[in-house]
Amino acid sequence: MNKKIFIKTFGCQMNVYDSNRIFDTVKKIGFTKTDKIEESNCYLLNTCHIRHKAKEKVYHEIGRVKEKFKFKKKPMVIVSGCVAQAENQEMLKREPYIDVVIGPQAYHKINDKIMEYLDKQKKLDETEFDAISKFNFLKKIQNSSKKISSFVTIQEGCDKFCHFCVVPYTRGPEYSRPFDDIIEEAKILSENGVREITLLGQNVNAYKNKNYRLSDLILEIEKMKEIKRIRYTTSHPKDMTKDLVDTYKISKKLMPLIHLPVQSGSDKVLKLMNRKHLISDYLKIYENLKAINSNIEFSSDFLIAYPGEDEDDFKATLNLIKRIKFINSFSFIFSPRPGTSASKLNLISKETSLERLEKVRTQLFKNQILANKSLENQEIDVLVENKTDEGTRFFGRSEYMTPVIFDGNDKDVGNIIKVKVTHSNQNTLFGESINKIEQKVA
Ligand code: SF4
Repeated sequence: MNKKIFIKTFGCQMNVYDSNRIFDTVKKIGFTKTDKIEESNCYLLNTCHIRHKAKEKVYHEIGRVKEKFKFKKKPMVIVSGCVAQAENQEMLKREPYIDVVIGPQAYHKINDKIMEYLDKQKKLDETEFDAISKFNFLKKIQNSSKKISSFVTIQEGCDKFCHFCVVPYTRGPEYSRPFDDIIEEAKILSENGVREITLLGQNVNAYKNKNYRLSDLILEIEKMKEIKRIRYTTSHPKDMTKDLVDTYKISKKLMPLIHLPVQSGSDKVLKLMNRKHLISDYLKIYENLKAINSNIEFSSDFLIAYPGEDEDDFKATLNLIKRIKFINSFSFIFSPRPGTSASKLNLISKETSLERLEKVRTQLFKNQILANKSLENQEIDVLVENKTDEGTRFFGRSEYMTPVIFDGNDKDVGNIIKVKVTHSNQNTLFGESINKIEQKVA
């Protein structure tokens, strides 16, 4: 059998990482990847439960697959990720087109499940929480990322139980991967050409393995000559420990953009959300980091119109956005997730919710536009990732993760180079590499 897998990923960076590792795993039993769904005999949908109507989107997507294979032999259909975890057996009952359901802590068993299914043609559900075995397995599978920038999962799950969030139920309790395994993976990646590593976890700064913390990982990876930039996401304010803050004093490779979700600017709403931190805690972190390096910028997640949020609470959020000048941030209207504490609360009207979201986004976009504008006519450091799709220009990212499109040279890929920013829009900086400018003058 010529095994071809088509993988579709919904959701967060964690899922993108998982999808890549799933492919690294199924390669061992002879699968090759295809971008053409019609060519595949195995279709895998890696799902995310964070967004609104996540479950319905999965069934809708499976409906589209069915349609594509209406006149052909159906592929084996696997649903993995957080929706699979939350729905498990239900999924197999509701949509018989699905053959295998596999949770995010069990995808190390995917090859066994595929082989079992091919052998017995029996529907399978594998949704146990088993992060230890998953990570033990991962260390035997080489992360074959050929990209300049790669994720490395260091931690999974969450013990914080914010009332709106499904992660503690779909990803299980906090578990940190062994320090040595992570360092080994980072080394392999650096040998494969990776130049930027983003350490990944649902609660990445809660990382704890023996006495090692996130700060130890950053400083150890920093020693790798080929690695030029280090990032981490997603953090919780409660875990911004002194050692991590102090790392910004000594690290040369840790990037000055901190993604630190605050969700709301009101202490009352934070309490209703069970966030376990106050705005004063958040501001303290902000001030401490700004005192270390005034170039540090913050990005965040905002959950708007959480049940109980009144006009004053909302104003507090807007004020916080103006004060911190968040860039690169995400904002969503609260929508209930089944099984969470907030799932049955009274919703704020749609009209008010949309109005508030609009105001938040306008302010966030304004911050972003101003931040980008301030870089026009400046020379900035860009890590060059690849050529643009048209093949004429290059794509890289600033220290603040902003995409940069510029005229450059092939030899720049994988290097940090100086780019002069000529113009910008809300999402992107445009410019020319200094080398290119000098070549023209010479
Ligand atoms: S800390 Fe983050 S992952 Fe954990 S429950 Fe809260 S929002 Fe979800």
